[in-house]
Formats: sequence, C-alpha cells, structure tokens
Amino acid sequence: MIVEMVTVGPFQENCYIIGDQSGTGALIDPGDEAARIALNVERTGIEITKIIVTHAHIDHVGAIAQLVDEYLCPVLMHEEAEAMMKTLPQQAIMMGMRFGRVPAVNRHITDYETLEVGGIRLRSLYTPGHAPGHLAFYAEEEGIVFSGDALFAGSVGRVDLPGGSMDLLMRSISEKLLPLPDVTRVLSGHGPETNIGRERQTNPFLRGGGVL
Ligand SMILES: [Zn+2]
Ligand SMILES: [Zn+2]
Repeated sequence: MIVEMVTVGPFQENCYIIGDQSGTGALIDPGDEAARIALNVERTGIEITKIIVTHAHIDHVGAIAQLVDEYLCPVLMHEEAEAMMKTLPQQAIMMGMRFGRVPAVNRHITDYETLEVGGIRLRSLYTPGHAPGHLAFYAEEEGIVFSGDALFAGSVGRVDLPGGSMDLLMRSISEKLLPLPDVTRVLSGHGPETNIGRERQTNPFLRGGGVL
C-alpha cells in the first residue's frame, strides 16, 4: 500500500493519500488546502475513488467539497458524523472562520465494516469519545491503523468539544485500538506516527487511566 501524509491547514491536520499497487486509491480526512492535496495526489499518480472521513470536525472535512468536484467520487462517513458536519457552518462562524459548502455524504459507514480501496481492505472501528461517529480504519494486512483524533503519539483526542466524553474515548481506545498487534503503525489525525505497543507502554493517558 502506498501511504502519503499531507499536513494541512491552521490545525496541522494529517490528510492521508492511500493507494494500492494498481494505483487505485482514496483520501482519508482531506481537511484543508485542497489544491495542495490534489497536487500531492497527482505526484503519486493515484486515482482517487473514495473520500473516507474519521470524524466531522472542521479540520478533517474542510477540503471535501472542493475535492469531490475534482474527483467526482463518493464521500463516506458514519451517520453521526454527518449529523455533526451539518452544524459546521454555524460553528465555523463562531470561531471566526468560514466553512463554505457542506459536502453531500454518499454512504454511511457502520462499525466493523470492510471498505475496499482497490486491493486494500480497511476495517472501520467505531471509536467515539472525541467526536460523534468517530471511526478509525484498520488495514490489517498492512499493519496500519488510521486513528483519526482518537489516539495520538503520547496523547489522546480532546473531549471538550460537542459530543465529547473521556469515558467513551477511553473505552473506544481500550476496546478497539489497544487490542491491535503491538507492531501496528498508528497514523493519527495530528502529529507523528507511532505504534500500538509504544502507546500502550508510554502514553500517559492510557497508563494513568486504568484502561488496561
Ligand atoms: Zn477532531
Ligand atoms: Zn483534528
């Protein structure tokens, strides 16, 4: 699997371009800077066939509308995330920002669904707590999990935004992410790559929280 990370926007959000060996691919969380994401896609030569979303915070969905125009591809997210996305124009105005057009969602993803991106299989892992309808995506054969804003290197997602809950987030991490093999690469919505074993052993939120 080809994986390219493009860090975009004022929140330094990580968008991932993924593709299989034949060049069939997808975007995960195109949050901002649509033109720069598209330029990186062109460099890889990958054909984007889906836009997959971990959760509907503004920093993860801000470039979707423009990129749908570019790739004419479906947008997939959890039903609860779509409901949240519809409130983004108002939330953006309160933050002094402009969200623009809310993209249409073509398909809802539920828990433990297998998404096919060419030859790549991604399993959805329902991991709420940071945001409603948050999903992580696990590529078992590749040993990679796209953890969105649930789990970061040395940290976990904030829970002070609408729909946030620390209890729920800790349960999501302990039930869905920590059971993955230690060597699983964790590609998060912000910050550097890590792996499950390192987070289990050193992440202060997981060690102190009694989730093990
Ligand atoms: Zn978020
Ligand atoms: Zn984020």
